[in-house]
Amino acid sequence: MSNITVCSRFRPLSSKEKINHGDNVCVHGIDAETFVFKDEKEEDFSFSFDRVFYEKSEQAEVYEFLALPIVRDAVNAINGTIITYGQTGAGKTYSMEGPSILECDEKKQGLLQRAANGLFECIKSTEGAVKHTIKLSMVEIYMEKVRDLFDLSKDNIQIKESRVQGIFLSGVTEIAISDHAEALQILSSGIANRAVGETQMNMASSRSHCIYIFTVQQELAKEKRVKCGKLVLVDLAGSEKVEKTGAEGRVLEEAKTINRSLSALGNVINALTCGSSGKANHIPYRDSKLTRILQDALGGNSRTALLCCCSPSSSDAPESLSTLRFGTRAQHIKASPHARCKEDYTKNHEASHATKYESRERILNKMRERMKLEDVKLLEELFILEGIFFDANSVEELEQAFEDVTMQTISSLHQAVEDLVCTTEELKHENKALKARLAAAERLNGLQTEAVENGNANVLQKISDLLSQFVSWVRSLSAFKMPK
Ligand code: ADP
Ligand code: MG
Repeated sequence: MSNITVCSRFRPLSSKEKINHGDNVCVHGIDAETFVFKDEKEEDFSFSFDRVFYEKSEQAEVYEFLALPIVRDAVNAINGTIITYGQTGAGKTYSMEGPSILECDEKKQGLLQRAANGLFECIKSTEGAVKHTIKLSMVEIYMEKVRDLFDLSKDNIQIKESRVQGIFLSGVTEIAISDHAEALQILSSGIANRAVGETQMNMASSRSHCIYIFTVQQELAKEKRVKCGKLVLVDLAGSEKVEKTGAEGRVLEEAKTINRSLSALGNVINALTCGSSGKANHIPYRDSKLTRILQDALGGNSRTALLCCCSPSSSDAPESLSTLRFGTRAQHIKASPHARCKEDYTKNHEASHATKYESRERILNKMRERMKLEDVKLLEELFILEGIFFDANSVEELEQAFEDVTMQTISSLHQAVEDLVCTTEELKHENKALKARLAAAERLNGLQTEAVENGNANVLQKISDLLSQFVSWVRSLSAFKMPK
């Protein structure tokens, strides 16, 4: 078990901050790891991180300290995650991409360009014995949906988990990249597809969490083995105080969703670091797409580094303080990275088919010991429906699969309830329209009856007229004396 690496970075004061608030800064560096932070009320707080990057720090320094060890490990099949966190406008995207992915001088290149370069450099040094393939995927989490930035028609990618791959994005586009220049072109095309909105805080501030996934696969032909390492870079959307950014309408909704997922991230970190020792603690990874995707990075099978980006301006002190406190808490997260290997891949794959039925039976037997028979029956049907398959020997996976099915059932029930509400609404409308038509028909009917009745009255009148004419005719006849 090792702790995750947590660093903080203060960008230079912007010209706008200098004009509006002068040169007042809230950070006073002591050394490369420690600084004193002055809050709004001039109160001092001392912070220590694995490394502090002050405003004059170079992009290369950040990469070498924070990312390079993780990049090297990814080539050796150890998963790694690098996250930039902080208020909007604090320098997350600058740290990740530099001023622009394609058009910036070497000195200003961010973690992404350097990581892509680092992967190809590491591969070069091992060339010959192994065959490497690097693939790139890019997604963003926008309004709680995972969108594929290489194929915008895939706008709700599902997050799944398997024993071999860990957490993965089902059906995400993966583009094979053969060199650094191609990687930059592809990254740039993905970035162009991001959802961006404008706030007063930062004109190009991103309204989504952006996730870059490099998968490095190495085939050890002689040993018939395939090893896989994932390098995940996460440029988080910034937390924002709604009143400060002037957000409204759709932008306000976006800000609320972003803040919700960031607080889910905070809750996961709290749960990971507050649990009483020895006792398994529930970690709410499933409360947001972000935390579910980062499940491996936060306390799982991944080396993780967090860069807490802050504005140095005293006017942003409350937000910077909250970012630094988040970082302090994250320092206590323990991770257990290890290499994942799909040994003798084809053989294992065939064997898994042969034992599939057996495994399912073993799982169901285990369940029958613990649960009611009808519940097991229901789950069996659901497993078959969902095509879930897992290692029957692992109780943990059994519970995981159980939780997956429960979550899927709950979400399909939610969907069914939503559909029901919609149908009820439609029926209400239809009912109202029918009632209106009925009332109109009744009114028409009334008029017709009236008309008929009026018609009858006319006939009666005519008959009575005729009758009275007939009576007077008979009378006139009786008055006429017949000759004898
Ligand atoms: P965020 O992604 O956190 O919302 P950005 O990375 O877009 O913020 O940074 C906001 C502004 O500050 C941008 O104009 C960016 O160029 C500038 N900036 C951020 N960090 C630095 C830095 N280390 N050096 C120079 N400019 C920076
Ligand atoms: Mg940004």
